[in-house]
Amino acid sequence: MRAFTYQRAESPQEAAAAVAARPDARFIAGGTNLLDLMKVDVERPGHLVDISRLGLDQINATPEGGLRIGAFFRNTDLASHPQVRRDYAVLSRALLAGASGQLRNMATTGGNLLQRSRCPYFYDTAMPCNKRAPGSGCAALEGFSRNLAILGVSNQCISQHPSDMAVAMRLLDAVVETVDADGTRRDIPIADFHRLPGETPHIETVLNHGELITAVRLPAPLGGHHSYRKVRDRASYAFASVSVAMVRGDGVQRIAFGGIGTKPWRVEAAEALSSPDAIADQVLADARPTDENRFKLALVRRTLTAALADHPAGEGTR
Ligand SMILES: Cc1cc2nc3c(=O)[nH]c(=O)nc-3n(C[C@H](O)[C@H](O)[C@H](O)COP(=O)(O)OP(=O)(O)OC[C@H]3O[C@@H](n4cnc5c(N)ncnc54)[C@H](O)[C@@H]3O)c2cc1C
Ligand code: SF4
Repeated sequence: MRAFTYQRAESPQEAAAAVAARPDARFIAGGTNLLDLMKVDVERPGHLVDISRLGLDQINATPEGGLRIGAFFRNTDLASHPQVRRDYAVLSRALLAGASGQLRNMATTGGNLLQRSRCPYFYDTAMPCNKRAPGSGCAALEGFSRNLAILGVSNQCISQHPSDMAVAMRLLDAVVETVDADGTRRDIPIADFHRLPGETPHIETVLNHGELITAVRLPAPLGGHHSYRKVRDRASYAFASVSVAMVRGDGVQRIAFGGIGTKPWRVEAAEALSSPDAIADQVLADARPTDENRFKLALVRRTLTAALADHPAGEGTR
């Protein structure tokens, strides 16, 4: 690992200013992704700004009847929070489907949203990868792409978004709150937060350098029955090949997908449909699979069919 300096910030704005001041500075939250990437020389920060003491580890009710989750609220605590389990069960289930108990004890809400690619070439500094080294090429296009994306891909990158939590956040229409170095605050709808790779796959979100996530806000509960169905190569401790987050019942039907998109994937127009095939046809209309991950087309249909069968429309229990 390369040498770096370390700073513990005392306020969100101070943290934002400290990172904004240096192009090579990064925030460090739980460190479960950033430190791994530093060890394999993919991330090379010269300065780390620790955001663990900024009071971002709280969760509170909002005046609108929703929840405001601090960016440093740990994944374990979020999954087990009584109100999350009761009113946002899809979020609790998505979190518990990810990583391991030890990792979730460290991982944070903000860090989870910003976790980076799990494409094998992103980790291999001997291989071309536009996300890691812009302009170097994409080894996955002609290489190992079994678990990569089929939707939102470009000729520059086909990496899938790896987060389970973010899929549930997309389903729930979460809003990401930020602050920057001069104290300016932004509310970013989660639908707009992650970017498609296009020509610039190394730019993954709409955040500016030094812009700190302070919280993620959930609107008032939707009701309905919540589920998160994740299909993967191993029964645990593996990223999704396909996942389906669903809220159904009480007059609501929402569906979001993980493992198939370059960002958490949701096609609102398809949510008005009822048959699994009709929904899948619409969701997959623009799919661009590789020969290796073409199996995801059928897997999406099967996972969606199973998820819909679990929760017939009209049932409102969670
Ligand atoms: C073996 C393994 C298996 C895993 N399996 C899964 C899985 O199945 N599903 C899944 O969803 N995830 C999985 N993960 C990923 C895990 O969920 C993430 O590593 C974790 O959520 C990252 O959170 P963190 O707080 O540790 O982030 P860090 O590693 O501290 O930070 C990640 C990035 O976010 C930035 N950052 C952090 N907080 C903020 C903030 N508040 N504002 C702005 N920038 C910020 C950092 O600068 C860094 O670039 C796995 C990880 C490992 C190591
Ligand atoms: S798919 Fe994306 S992350 Fe993977 S090698 Fe290509 S550019 Fe890199």
